[in-house]
Amino acid sequence: MEFVILGSGGATATPRPYCQCNVCKKARKLGEPYKRNSSSLFIKDINGVIDCGEDIADSLNRRNIKKVENLFITHWHPDHTFGLRLVLESCFDFRTNKAVRRINVYLSKRVFKDLENKMNVLNYYANVIKVAKIHFIEHNQMVKIGKLKIIAIGYTGKNSNTFSFLFKEGKKRVLYAPCDTIRFAQKILNLDLLINECGLFSYKTVKSEISFPSLMNRIKELNPKRTILTHIEELELQNWGINYLRKMKNKYADSNFDFAYDGMEIKV
Ligand SMILES: [Zn+2]
Ligand SMILES: [Zn+2]
Repeated sequence: MEFVILGSGGATATPRPYCQCNVCKKARKLGEPYKRNSSSLFIKDINGVIDCGEDIADSLNRRNIKKVENLFITHWHPDHTFGLRLVLESCFDFRTNKAVRRINVYLSKRVFKDLENKMNVLNYYANVIKVAKIHFIEHNQMVKIGKLKIIAIGYTGKNSNTFSFLFKEGKKRVLYAPCDTIRFAQKILNLDLLINECGLFSYKTVKSEISFPSLMNRIKELNPKRTILTHIEELELQNWGINYLRKMKNKYADSNFDFAYDGMEIKV
């Protein structure tokens, strides 16, 4: 299996508009790896994308992705879905008034409902301009695309509002859980790769997200062969310093993890 990190940024991408902090200035001046778009993953084997924030068009263009056939949605939050229009509508030709292609969109009914309440666009793309085909995939259900088996894992089981996706090919197993993993209550073992959100460094002030030390404990528990941490928040690096990621790697040297960056290629 081959993956590319399309975006490794947090709820607010880096550089953050208006911000004149060192992290944002550096990202503006030098681009990658300091620039981080919204969290998104490309799965080469199936021309698949997981999640699409507002900057997804830039993420796809930067990696010169030529086709997206399958789109998976973890949860409705804006940093994971507000780029739906750009992924889907790029398959529509307004001159002929026809869809050029349809993208398969995979999500649970609950996530679909949440999205319908917050930003009702999927019905339009699926039924009016027909650039999307919706497939509901629930907790523990599997879809097979090419050689890959993809299993939806609800964070809290049935009726979860947030999902991770488990990719299997032969004996290889990869789990992508990019956001809100404080509520992740599943024990997924024997992973060759875990791509997880980066825990918060500011856990003494913010209690609503998984703390970095708790995440380190969870990684010990799940014991994947390799871990990549994504969804890295600009405000965290602004506050703790751009070198803090390296400091954390040194501090937790006994854990086998790396921080993601935009364009990171991963083979499993
Ligand atoms: Zn900044
Ligand atoms: Zn998020």
